Amino acid sequence: MKTIGIIGGMSPESTVLYYQTINREVNARLGGNRSADIFMHSIDFETVAAMQRAGDWAAAGRLLAESGRKLEKMGAQALVLATNTMHKVASDIESAVGIPLIHVVDSTAVAVKQQGLAKVGLLGTKFTMSDGFYSERMAQAGIGTLMPSAKEQNEIHRIIFEELCRNRIEHASRDYYYRAIEALKQAGAEGVVLGCTEIGLLVKAEECPLPVFDSAEIHAMAAVEFILS
Ligand code: GLU
Repeated sequence: MKTIGIIGGMSPESTVLYYQTINREVNARLGGNRSADIFMHSIDFETVAAMQRAGDWAAAGRLLAESGRKLEKMGAQALVLATNTMHKVASDIESAVGIPLIHVVDSTAVAVKQQGLAKVGLLGTKFTMSDGFYSERMAQAGIGTLMPSAKEQNEIHRIIFEELCRNRIEHASRDYYYRAIEALKQAGAEGVVLGCTEIGLLVKAEECPLPVFDSAEIHAMAAVEFILS
């Protein structure tokens, strides 16, 4: 079994899902009391969120690169960055370490293609929806992305930071997300990517008008494939 390093804490509410999903899947596949061999660095989320608000992505890149280096030194054989947004600085981490980074967009693109879809709606933080790093990488994989309107992006973003990352689940917010997903469907989306690792706490596949691709779950499963490879 290989060892992975999780750069987490962004936010803790979703890092716990990675930890649980990876361990449960390893146990389901290997049986007995088997679980995964994991190193995790859980970073104070406010430190990162403040850098995002200030647009200081260079500082954020340095912080996460240092985290990756620490995990590599401890013995991690691959890194999992447990947030979509911070993949904006994925290359800063990759160039600081000698081990692979399991990229969330690549893992999600594979899952979308496996379902034979070519155009998906994307929900995430404003950075993920509007900065291009996510949609460009999806486009390289041959997948088109549709975004909510600017007004919807603001509210979706607010709900992530003020509610989901603080363990608050509100009915009104869930309804808001479903309405935004319905609008993406009307605009031609064939599926919806939950491109923020906390959105799965709010949006449930069985209630959703489109096939759901939950980045946290997909990414954690990609980590399992590496661990057992
Ligand atoms: N976990 C979220 C994501 O997947 C948002 C928190 C962050 O900005 O890192 O994008």
